[in-house]
Amino acid sequence: MKKKWISLVLTLVTATALFTGCGKEDTGNDGLDSNADTSVDTGEESGQNATKPEIAPYAYEDEINIIDDQYRNYYEIFVYSFFDEDGDGIGDLQGVIDKLDYVADMGFNGIWLMPIMKSTTYHKYDVVDYYAIDREYGTMEDLQELIDACHDRGIKLILDLMLNHTSSQHEWFTTAYEYLKNLPEGQDANAEECPYVDYYHFEKLEGKKKSGYHPVGDSEWSYEGVFRSEMPDLNLDNEAVRKEFEAIAAFYLDMGIDGFRLDAAREFFSGNAGKNTEVLSWFSDYVTGYKEGAYLVGEVWENFTTIQLYYESGMTSFFDFPMSQHNGKVASILKGQSEASSWGTTLESIHAEYSVKNPDYIAAPFLSNHDTGRWANTMVNNEDHIKYGAGLLLSMTGNPFVYYGEEIGMPSSGSKDENKRLPMIWTYETNRGKTQGPKNADSGIDYKFADVQTQMEDELSILNYYKRAVRIRNENPEIARGIVSSYPEYSGATLCVISKEYDGNVIYVVYNMGEEADTFDVKAAFGDVAICDYLTVDGSEVTFTDGVLSLPKYSICYLK
Ligand code: CA
Repeated sequence: MKKKWISLVLTLVTATALFTGCGKEDTGNDGLDSNADTSVDTGEESGQNATKPEIAPYAYEDEINIIDDQYRNYYEIFVYSFFDEDGDGIGDLQGVIDKLDYVADMGFNGIWLMPIMKSTTYHKYDVVDYYAIDREYGTMEDLQELIDACHDRGIKLILDLMLNHTSSQHEWFTTAYEYLKNLPEGQDANAEECPYVDYYHFEKLEGKKKSGYHPVGDSEWSYEGVFRSEMPDLNLDNEAVRKEFEAIAAFYLDMGIDGFRLDAAREFFSGNAGKNTEVLSWFSDYVTGYKEGAYLVGEVWENFTTIQLYYESGMTSFFDFPMSQHNGKVASILKGQSEASSWGTTLESIHAEYSVKNPDYIAAPFLSNHDTGRWANTMVNNEDHIKYGAGLLLSMTGNPFVYYGEEIGMPSSGSKDENKRLPMIWTYETNRGKTQGPKNADSGIDYKFADVQTQMEDELSILNYYKRAVRIRNENPEIARGIVSSYPEYSGATLCVISKEYDGNVIYVVYNMGEEADTFDVKAAFGDVAICDYLTVDGSEVTFTDGVLSLPKYSICYLK
């Protein structure tokens, strides 16, 4: 069966090459679509739009095979900049509902919503009321509608939850602040008079300076706010605070929320991984005890060794910061700073390190998020590298997280947070749904790549690369769930070979991480296996003849 497909593909490739003169690998961008990348000089082939070459049909598409467990392909949404349903220029929950079919069509089956609770800021990481939806975004009824609409589409929805701090406008804090401000000098705070004084870290510093502390008016009191004075840090040693968060978690889990992303877990007790792990252990036990299968992913912006320590908490996931961003593993491969073979050995050793602390852990890799430069910027708008980074991410075991707009190569600019959270560009044809983005974002930041609508229609777009990469995950459960074995004997500077085993099935992954085409003798290595899927950055084919794979530049081939 597969052999027939392969010969069909070969015929089509040959035919395509004859008609178009394509199949060459001489340009970084094959110029098939003038809209996809205006930043890379493609050498202006005349009439390229008129003679858009046919891409050979993809022969390896199989049925979707979704297992209803905790493994998901997550999509991170910043509601503010996503889709504006009511026309006030600010994205909203109804806008997310409006775009759920898009999210589902891309193959994402999990959504992480950045904070939506009542807040005083555009980013809403400082919560004023944990039981209210911010009016800019909508209502609790909208959230219920969103939860139900997600579940109708098999999408899990997790919320960003801030345990580390509240807004300085939160009633807990304002009550404690007023109490202490008016307390006569020299008098101790009395938690029976005002329980909220124990909700935060209030201290008399007596003239000493303490990093991250801010004064309570003109009083002798100060409070901790590691990020800023408007975000006072909560005292997570206090049982009463824990009870508050148990009630908050239960409230949302009862509505149908599938879990939480825990913000700033490294700062619960800044610099004290042991205490932070205890807090995470308490919360994780509570949430999973309250709702079986609820999913938690923690933000601990640290290296492998430290993240490993946090897995002792029993939390299911922590974001894989060391794989992500400009200095992470994926970028180092693409920048030629590490050999392809190290990809396999790194994946293997991460698993060994994490699983020893929590055998049921699920890795949470990503390329960029709302706090980092966007992936397209990290890859300086090199379309091959943008795509291949996504290919690597979406080949990884665990729950990959894709930041909204990453799938169209959206830009960020510099280190300013607002510039990392720009409006999603659905279409340049109409302003309907277009958000204005954060007010302090710089104007005139250049979107190098086309809008969603254009990219959807272009088979070679970044968007369609993501879509196929996610699809392949959804067809082959081994990719998300498999235990990696690396094969250094077959891997080298640009070639990497791994296998993944899950539930008695093995899938082989062969990566050509180089700019040149390469071959790999699969039959000699693994005997009779067949291609089940592949990804190339420019629409060229992976071929398989007499057991030997021919791999175009930046390709990934899956075999079973
Ligand atoms: Ca709106």
